[in-house]
Amino acid sequence: MSNQTLLEVKNLKQYFPIKGGIFGRTVNHVKAVDDISFTVKEGETVSIVGESGCGKSTTGRAILRLDNPYAGEVNFQGEDLLALNKSQMRKKRKDLQIIFQDPYASLNPRQTVSQILEEALEIQNVVPKKDRRKKIVELLETVGIGAHQIDRHPHEFSGGQRQRVGIARALSVDPKLIICDEAVSALDVSIQAQVLNLLKDLQREFKLTYLFISHDLGVVRHISDRIIVMYLGKIVEIADKKSLFTNPQHPYTKALLSAIPSTDLSQKKERIILKGDVPSPIDPPAGCRFHTRCPYAFDRCRTEEPQLHHIPGQVQQSACHLVEDGAVDFSQLKTNY
Ligand code: SF4
Repeated sequence: MSNQTLLEVKNLKQYFPIKGGIFGRTVNHVKAVDDISFTVKEGETVSIVGESGCGKSTTGRAILRLDNPYAGEVNFQGEDLLALNKSQMRKKRKDLQIIFQDPYASLNPRQTVSQILEEALEIQNVVPKKDRRKKIVELLETVGIGAHQIDRHPHEFSGGQRQRVGIARALSVDPKLIICDEAVSALDVSIQAQVLNLLKDLQREFKLTYLFISHDLGVVRHISDRIIVMYLGKIVEIADKKSLFTNPQHPYTKALLSAIPSTDLSQKKERIILKGDVPSPIDPPAGCRFHTRCPYAFDRCRTEEPQLHHIPGQVQQSACHLVEDGAVDFSQLKTNY
């Protein structure tokens, strides 16, 4: 991993309008992503985790401008992607690729694997026409699919093989950053491990950078260098993998970690069950957005929004009033329920 920043997301907001009334005016917004900032270095794997609806996939789509963001900056190699026009952005997409959760839905069922990959190569015009067949065979072999399967259709492959085709398609244009949006969530556990190992091998071979989006901390643990935890459109913690798993500094992270099944039967693990549902992103709670479910909430949490800050003496960042003066051991604190 280099020290060079590849991607810098600054004050990104993604608000979706809610229309109402007889004139169809905007009456409110769904604040799916609300003022988040983070960086990704070249060669790094940064994961974004959180429950469904926290804004992690919306962040990935906003970076790629699959949905144009409401506000903020997305600097890629120092260039603001949000300032590019459509044709400039189309060219830039060569460097930023995405792998989706459901490879079956993202691969055209009428096309053969060869046609799917040829289309990707043609759009970005990265390989001369006469060399494309050779390149397609190379790509498929790189992701573990034999050349004899080149003329098969997506339905003739297993889920894991289809995801390998999705990876080959992303790789075909020599990208710098790949956003993996729940890329292994639909696969069986054993196949998940194979695909994660493949992604790691490809990262080394092609010097790739990953933004890995997942609800599954077990998966994230396998692949990440750093982890961003999101709750209701906000970043609540950013930490390197070791710090996050051994010394979480946000009550929400702690609750997520407590839900991972332990493989060590001798270790008794206390599961933290959060109260209630995630509130609506249309009208999020005042103060700390997590206060309605946080077992450590106190008066200040209900009125003052905690800012994401570096914890004194720690490398990680947290958005919690309790860690303003230094790291805390949440298990030693009294809970409200
Ligand atoms: Fe809990 Fe308060 Fe920290 Fe929010 S700021 S996570 S409510 S203790």
